[in-house]
Amino acid sequence: MPRPITAVIHAQALRQNLAVVRQSVPDSKVFAVVKANAYGHGIERVYESFKSADGFALLDIEEAKRLRALGWTGPILLLEGIFSPQDLFDCAQYQLSFTVHSEQQMVWLQHHPYPAQFDIFMKMNSGMNRLGFKPQQYREIWQQLSQSDKIASITHMMHFSDADGERFGQKGIDYQLSEFEATIQDLPGERSVSNSAAILRYQNQLQSDYVRGGIMLYGSSPDYPKHSIQDWGLAPTMSLRSEIIAVQQLNANESVGYGSSYVAEQPIRIGIVACGYADGYQRISATGTPVLVNGIRTRTIGRVSMDMLAVDLTPISDAQVGSEVVLWGQSSTGTILPIDDVAATSGTIGYELMCGVTARVNFINQE
Ligand SMILES: *Cc1c(COP(=O)(O)O)cnc(C)c1O
Repeated sequence: MPRPITAVIHAQALRQNLAVVRQSVPDSKVFAVVKANAYGHGIERVYESFKSADGFALLDIEEAKRLRALGWTGPILLLEGIFSPQDLFDCAQYQLSFTVHSEQQMVWLQHHPYPAQFDIFMKMNSGMNRLGFKPQQYREIWQQLSQSDKIASITHMMHFSDADGERFGQKGIDYQLSEFEATIQDLPGERSVSNSAAILRYQNQLQSDYVRGGIMLYGSSPDYPKHSIQDWGLAPTMSLRSEIIAVQQLNANESVGYGSSYVAEQPIRIGIVACGYADGYQRISATGTPVLVNGIRTRTIGRVSMDMLAVDLTPISDAQVGSEVVLWGQSSTGTILPIDDVAATSGTIGYELMCGVTARVNFINQE
């Protein structure tokens, strides 16, 4: 028998979440963001559920090639653009669109030795200050690019830093949106601005011909705890499940795990779970992180070790060796433990948990 820990990928939930994107922005084309191996889910595992999207967005050319190998013939956008002049050969061969965010990338493009007709997404640095051209230089560079014989189309692109909240007491999109709109106002070309938070929160105020939906497709709320996945109609797409492999009865003053960080105040029944930080469960998830046993919500206790953690069985009197444990996601009886609840207790976000499940965990697909 393999160790009982598995990451179950739910096709139905992936489809449901894509439908929420569609309903939120019915007039936009939807790029399903599948960077980081589909946020840790596996590109091959999500492909069938997402192939009704209008395109896929990711970072690595190797991941783009995997999409082509699956039979995808539609648009693929490289969100960070090319990393070397050689990448342009792959972009031509595999028909990849890409972001152009720096003068270095423009030089590579201009020197590309073969005729080409790339569709590019020109990125404006509208205030996030990671990638892109500043508004003051944007129009001039757009002029140059639009005269290039290597380019078939230019889409105006930007990325929000605070679409999930506020900035300096204002709506988090305001400071960037006004710069962006003023800069491109009379330029031709489509636009791509919205990430998940913008799709859900500002659907009526944003014109985004191409949206780039990521985290919402994977059943995590971009503005948790303000809104939960239930509020947005999203479903968990990854369930990290394991089993109880031992049961211990602690007396008062006995402890469990390294460092004896949890000491029982009174007698308590605990379960030892086959899941640890080497599976991608955060070691920082100390006593009190929510977890489901037999579909009933309880908590972790003590330190997370490499291969095991302990849970409080007080609310689940019938729990025994072999009982199902859900670290996040859906139990087999349908109870939901949102990944956002676990992440919040662990000082992180759903993105990091789902991307962090390690290679030794067995992934399975489920309808
Ligand atoms: C990752 C990414 C997205 C998707 O963001 P979510 O918050 O996951 O929806 C969109 N655009 C760019 C440029 C990205 O890098």
